[in-house]
Amino acid sequence: MQITALSGGIGGARFLRGLQQHLANENLDADITVIGNTGDDIWIHGLRICPDLDTVMYTLGGGSSEERGWGREGETFNAKDELAAYGVEPTWFGLGDKDIATHLVRSTSLSAGYSLSDVTTALCQRWQPGVRLLPMSNERAETHVVVDDPSGALDSSGAPMRIAIHFQEWWIRYRASLPAHEFVIVGIDDARPAPGVLDAIAAADVILLPPSNPVVSIGTILAVPGIRDALRSTSAPVVGLSPIVGGAPVRGMADACLTTVGVETSALGVAGLYGARTQSGILDAWLIDESDAHAVPAIEALGIPCSAIPLMMSDLDATAAMAAQALRVAGTHV
Ligand code: GDP
Ligand code: CA
Repeated sequence: MQITALSGGIGGARFLRGLQQHLANENLDADITVIGNTGDDIWIHGLRICPDLDTVMYTLGGGSSEERGWGREGETFNAKDELAAYGVEPTWFGLGDKDIATHLVRSTSLSAGYSLSDVTTALCQRWQPGVRLLPMSNERAETHVVVDDPSGALDSSGAPMRIAIHFQEWWIRYRASLPAHEFVIVGIDDARPAPGVLDAIAAADVILLPPSNPVVSIGTILAVPGIRDALRSTSAPVVGLSPIVGGAPVRGMADACLTTVGVETSALGVAGLYGARTQSGILDAWLIDESDAHAVPAIEALGIPCSAIPLMMSDLDATAAMAAQALRVAGTHV
């Protein structure tokens, strides 16, 4: 049994941990391949940082901070404070001391000519996440956000000057509160799926879309040329789980992302964004939270079979039950 999942950071990692728990509970043998979003990646202070890959690696490897959901447990921020004392920008990124070691290994290896795939495999040697973790692409393709210049600068016609800032700056520094005109993934046209990605989609028995951010996590992976087509043509069922519950993200600011791309923040809105595979989209089934059960008919009217079940990842058992249900609706009785 081959399970392939697309994943962002926290939502994806937590779901994958539940999937592993379900497989362990049932004594089931399955290989899991995770295609991770690298659109959030950024160079900071000479370090290559891959937030979503690291969140998956640390979470599944037992080294993440449960409280924050990202970064290492028992983390300190001495280096960050020292950099700030030098007055070096950016100061808004949460660069932990332990975490820096990961970024140093990655940056050194990339500078030596290794690919991000190779480096990710090497880092996972230590963490043993129990999944094959692949970056969506080895090429740089970073999400930027077009906003009105926060300094208030005007262009020659007197209108607010528009600038593109890195997604991380918009998300962390501005907490997604600067109205965004659009997302631009710089480099996406030249990005290719990393080795193994298309095979993992074609050879899967089931493909899962965890409750990750549909725009800047899953949407970015889908934007890598070739990945959406591979999902549309695989014989495996594609099952998604809604990150939106009761008209709001469970955590984070996905509503700001959805608004930017003109999609309503609802389980129905996200279903429509992904679309039915029978109608040039990617979904064969969609799971929404039980509190959104009223939306089932409207989602099924889009051609997407839909069930309403508990979708809060409040603990490992609840998350394992979500994963079990996703496999069940896929018709995969593992
Ligand atoms: P990020 O890269 O760290 O932002 O993480 P992801 O993109 O993987 O996941 C973020 C999404 O996870 C957010 O949109 C949340 O709404 C969603 N999320 C977090 N916790 C839960 C939960 O318990 N249930 C559901 N359904 N979604 C969740
Ligand atoms: Ca992310």
